[in-house]
This record gives sequence, C-alpha cells and structure tokens, in this order.
Amino acid sequence: MAELEEITLRSVLHRTARYFGNNEALVDAHNRYTYAETLDLVQRTAALLHSLGVRKGDRVALMTLPSPVHVIALFGIIELGAIPVTLHAREKASVLAKVLTRLMPRTLIYYETLADTVGELRQLMPEITSFVCARSGTEEKVAVDDLCIPDDLHRFELDFEPMPIAASDTAAIVLTSGTTGVPKGVMHSHRGMVEGARGAVYPFQLGPFSCLVNLFTTSFMGWYNVTLPFINVGGKLVFMEQWDPAAYLQKMADEKATFCFLVPTMWRMLLKLPVEDYDLSSIGLAGFAGEVMDTATLRAIRERICTNVINAYGTTETGTSAGTVMFSDDLLKEDKIQSIGKPMLNSEARVIIPGGDMDDEVPPGEEGEIIIRGPSRAVQMWNDPALSRKVFRGDWWYSGDLGHLDDEGYLYIHGRVDDMIITGGINVLPAPIEEVMLSHDQVSECAVVGLPDPEWGQRVTAFVIASHEELTADHLHDHAQASDLPNYQRPKEFRFVTELPRGSSGKTSRKTLREQAIAAES
Ligand code: AMP
Repeated sequence: MAELEEITLRSVLHRTARYFGNNEALVDAHNRYTYAETLDLVQRTAALLHSLGVRKGDRVALMTLPSPVHVIALFGIIELGAIPVTLHAREKASVLAKVLTRLMPRTLIYYETLADTVGELRQLMPEITSFVCARSGTEEKVAVDDLCIPDDLHRFELDFEPMPIAASDTAAIVLTSGTTGVPKGVMHSHRGMVEGARGAVYPFQLGPFSCLVNLFTTSFMGWYNVTLPFINVGGKLVFMEQWDPAAYLQKMADEKATFCFLVPTMWRMLLKLPVEDYDLSSIGLAGFAGEVMDTATLRAIRERICTNVINAYGTTETGTSAGTVMFSDDLLKEDKIQSIGKPMLNSEARVIIPGGDMDDEVPPGEEGEIIIRGPSRAVQMWNDPALSRKVFRGDWWYSGDLGHLDDEGYLYIHGRVDDMIITGGINVLPAPIEEVMLSHDQVSECAVVGLPDPEWGQRVTAFVIASHEELTADHLHDHAQASDLPNYQRPKEFRFVTELPRGSSGKTSRKTLREQAIAAES
C-alpha cells in the first residue's frame, strides 16, 4: 500500500489555498489577502530567499510585528523547508545578537520600522549574509538597500520544486520569554505544529468563517497557537501591530470577529472600557491563557462580552494542543472555577513529586510538579542538550509549574516553582494573594513576590498599580485582613508602582520584579 503523504505546515497552507482560496486570510489596516493570494506571495518569498542562498534546514530569523507580511515571510521560509525563528522584536540589539549567535541564521527578515535595531545587528552579526525588509504598507516608506517583501516579489517566481519535508523535520524554533537571561530556542516539528493546529480547532470552535483579531507578539508561542488553527481551517486573521484596547474593540466590531482571545492582563484593560458601546454580537467565544485569571474578570467577560468562555493552559514547550482546556460548562461549576481544565485531545497531564520521575505521581489533591505529554509537544531545545535532557524525558515534558489534580481529573495550577515564596518556613504562591488584591476595586494590577527579610526569611510583598490616587497601604492591609487568606499569606508590605515588568509575551515577570526590588535595596 502506498504511504500517505506526510502532512506538514507547508501542505496545510497549500490545501487551504486549494479549497478555500477565495476566503480572506490575512488582513491589516492596508492589506486584505485571500488564501490564494497568500500562497502566491509565500511562494514568491520562497524564490526570493532561495536566490539569497537559503536552503532546507537553514535558520531564517524574523523581526516582525503582527501583520500579514510576517505570515507571508514565515510561510515563505517554511516553503523551502528552512526553519523560521521569530525574535523578540523589542529586545536590545546586544541581547538579540546573543540569540542570533546561538541560532546562526543565514538571513534576517526585518520589519521596516525596526530598521534601526537591524542597523546595529549588521555590525554585530557579520555571519548573517543577507537582510530582507518586510513592509506592511502602514508607514512612510523608508529607503532601504535590501530586497523587500512584498514590493520586490513580482520579480521572483518559484520555478522549481522545493526539497521534500518530513513530518519529523523542524518546522520552527520558538523562543522562550527570556525575561532574564538569553531566551532559549524550543524546536517544534512539522508533525507537532500540524497536530497542534488541528487539536486546537475543537476548543477554539473554528471553521472557515471564523475570524480573530490577532495582536499576539509574533515571537511568542501564543502567536502560533492562535494563528495556525485559523490557517488550517481557512479562517480570517486580522492583525494589529500594537495593543490598543479601544482600537481592538472597534476592529472586532468592524471585522465581525467570532473569537476574542487575550491574556488576563489585556482582558482587565479591555474591560475598563465601555465595551457595551461596540457591536460585538459576532463573538461566539471568548478565551484566555498564559496567566492565572482572577474570578472577577472571568465573571465580567461572561456578563459583558460573551457567555461562552474557555481557559487554555499551554506553554512554549507544550505547543498548541498538549496543554489543558477548561470549557465554558466547566467554568460554570463554582467549585472548579480555579481549574485550568483537562488535557486537550490525545494529551496527558500528571502531577509528580517535584524533582521526581514520571511514575512518582502524587495522589489527587496533593501539590506537585505538572508534567505533560501530547502530540504537539516540542522535540528539544536548540543547541542545549543538557537542558533538553532535563525537561524532555521520554515523551514527557517537565513544566516547572506546581499544581494538583482533583479526583475528577481537573488540573489546578498553583504557580511556577520559581515564583514560590518561603515565608516563616511556609511555602506560599502568589496567585491566590494577587486574586484577593485584584478584587479591591481600586487596584488595577498586582504582583506578589517574596523579598529578603531578617525575621521571615522572605516577606510577602504586594506590588500594586492603583486606579485611584486615594488608595493607601492601610486600605490594602484592611482588605487583606478581611479576606479569607490565612495570616501567613497576607502581604506584610504594599508598594505602589506605575508599571510592572513584563516579558515579551505581555505577562508579568515576578522574577524580574523581585530582582529589581532587591537590586534597589542593596
Ligand atoms: P510561556 O512558555 O512563556 O508561554 O509560559 C508558560 C507558563 O505560563 C506556564 O508554565 C504557566 O506558568 C503559565 N500559564 C500558561 N497558561 C496559563 C493558564 N491558562 N493559567 C495559568 N497559568 C498559565
């Protein structure tokens, strides 16, 4: 019997273009491309890159904001069997150079507005042999000497058959958030990415008429998680370069978005606006991922945006569908509201003794380290065998997240092992404390960390962004006293700040916050 053709990200786009060619695929303020047009531009991009010497297995770095041209460049790389790696575009040139030195890409594709940083990289990285400019058409054209996507694509045509790709070949390297230190490259195979795209279709409830306004940072796994399932089914992706909650609401109304998916911090910002003034009747599903959600915001989403809400848990290493999902009906169960749900299609989650092995499962209700396996799991770390061996063991991935399973198989995440506070000898995680602080109506953001303390070892410290000037530490103290938090969890100190450090994915970095606070004290 003949072998079935292996499905890869390349064949996914080809198939969608064949059967849903007239569907709108990629949209931004200046461009609207169908799937047929997208594939044509992708293949021309592949020809352009080939002319610069890019071949199968070569890494090609991208420094691009969320836009149609980013998707075209990414799939142009994939068309050749080369490996895209999207950089954290807003990082300093010196950090970017460290990442690039590890990855050694042949070519760098950069967004026109990031040309200045790229100028520095040209000096720092002579190993990169070619640079390509990506233009979205939304800004004044800056004169560049490099070839441009899409402007120069009419000169290129894919007049050869690209190298075959196997499902086990690397499809993309996705960087970890790297809030401190140099981000690591997580390698995903075509098989894993295709499984992820397919596996996410059911929790995201997608079809060829679905539409998402997508402003996820392009370097973040979350970008792949929301983008690839749409491309797989032929849905419409509308891109915005920057997070502007009012513009986002307007865009969802204009484009008749069917799905609204954001990290909790963004939801809190969005819900401060008069969302009722926008026609959001097309939205059939709301969702969140990436951080622990507070119940007040969850309720507000349900009441003000859409009653159908999901919570998805995933990481750079789980890929799109090896995490867990909490469906809308699950979230209606009051006793389960804190759960991140059950493993997605064909995935598994276990809770083991921290530092233990896959068979060292702890009983339901007991805290331990979450380990995950499933078809979209990453394969290994780029150029880091020691770390690969530590976190990928057998087909399991060791998450470094602490949590527990209940006796019905619902998973609960307590926080990162790294975020653990040890105060008076007791282990405390920030999430429940932050939840209480966020329930104060004059607190708009909060992050809790442990700072060195002569008496307590670590003192529970809440960093708070106030939404009203009158808010004082005494008010917050009283609020914590009146809550259900046990004494040892109540913050010993409150500090007011105007912003909290964030990783490239937009999530609050408690690690950076803690380090900054300690550095400021010493
Ligand atoms: P990253 O790999 O940078 O995307 O970060 C993954 C981490 O984000 C996980 O290890 C969790 O600590 C956290 N995370 C992701 N999704 C959720 C969620 N739905 N609820 C709580 N925490 C989450």
